[in-house]
Amino acid sequence: MDKIKMITPLVEMDGDEMTRVLWDWIKEILIKPFVDLKTEYYDLGLVNRDKTDDKVTVDSAIANKKYGVAVKCATITPNAQRVEEYNLKSMYKSPNGTIRAMLDGTVFRAPILVDGITPYIPTWKKPIVIARHAYGDIYKAVDGLAGAGDAKLVYTDRDGNKTEKTVFDFNSDGIVLAMHNTDKSIESFARACFNYALDMKLPLWFSTKDTISKVYDGRFKEIFSRIYENEYKEKFESANIEYMYTLIDDVVARIVRSEGGIVWACKNYDGDVMSDMVATAYGSLAMMTSVLVSPDGVYEYEAAHGTVTRHYYKYIKGEETSTNPVATIFAWSGALRKRGEMDNLPDLVDFANRLEKATITTIEQGEMTGDLVGLFKKEGVTPKKLTSKEFLQAIAKRI
Ligand code: NAP
Ligand code: MG
Repeated sequence: MDKIKMITPLVEMDGDEMTRVLWDWIKEILIKPFVDLKTEYYDLGLVNRDKTDDKVTVDSAIANKKYGVAVKCATITPNAQRVEEYNLKSMYKSPNGTIRAMLDGTVFRAPILVDGITPYIPTWKKPIVIARHAYGDIYKAVDGLAGAGDAKLVYTDRDGNKTEKTVFDFNSDGIVLAMHNTDKSIESFARACFNYALDMKLPLWFSTKDTISKVYDGRFKEIFSRIYENEYKEKFESANIEYMYTLIDDVVARIVRSEGGIVWACKNYDGDVMSDMVATAYGSLAMMTSVLVSPDGVYEYEAAHGTVTRHYYKYIKGEETSTNPVATIFAWSGALRKRGEMDNLPDLVDFANRLEKATITTIEQGEMTGDLVGLFKKEGVTPKKLTSKEFLQAIAKRI
């Protein structure tokens, strides 16, 4: 059989622990037998990040910008315990944070749906994609304790002119917080959301609390509205999808009643909280994909879960694990499909579709990893627990 040819390499960002093990198996069992795989390889495993003083992460993000499409394995974000475990020179920042900042990107998280695993909200028939603004607000806030006295917000412009507002005149102990965002970051976020919605042909809902936060959240609302009117309105109309702005309270109520099939754009904190709620409601973090999209159309695909450390410690003791590779498979298929679209390679796009279909069919026909067995209910099908490798082989048979 002739293998499918590629033109431009994918930027391949390898990672850590159990997902690093799955990474190799996915390539060997599911991709290389069918595709003449071209990648530019960056080893973001913690050992190599330490060896290169984390330069490899920066280099991989530069390559991502150059080629346009990357696929990333889950990586360890070191904490004090990891610094000791790996004898690290420094407590490196999260690679995802570094890449996100360099690409000025927005993260979209979408669940993978299979017949037999019903979301906790059974009316959700289609994916709900959460787009989380990944800059500012409480994540870059300044806060502090206050006692009796005046808390003020002071703004000084470049000429030294001051504007002052009293936050609160305290009579007793309390707390204060000040946060910010920038028009530039909000504009990038808006464009990434509009582009993604057009790409997926899904309606876009954006929510804030501008009735209460009139200037701050009001600014988000205005920027989205201006960019929509000037740059996207016609494209949305010809794609026959809607853009809707509404209050977050209203979206929460509408989402629960909806059947899904929506991109929900959230401010940073809302997205942090709501993405965990939506992921849980769809059944499993191991069935959630994630893509980072920059406003100029650079894509980085990954699984939403971590390196599955607990399973890895079993694996290195020689035990077979039943770790779910689905989200990582979909990171590869998403990246290959996007590469195929950009390079005009219909065979590569077709392969990505087949890989996803084979993965879903394998589960729907009752062969799956342990985490899904308890969630799976389908008449006439008894779920069977496979090891990760057996599951990948069961998928390969169906491609
Ligand atoms: P995790 O790796 O997502 O795993 C947490 C638990 O969720 C696992 O122990 C497992 O439960 C279950 N799980 C997650 N993915 C699974 C899969 N594919 N198949 C089966 N079960 C799965 O999160 P964590 O333990 O908090 O973090 C581990 C490391 O990952 C940390 O070093 C963290 O820094 C890193 N991390 C990286 C990313 C990223 O690169 N995007 C994201 C999050 C975390 P059971 O043990 O009960 O089976
Ligand atoms: Mg969260």
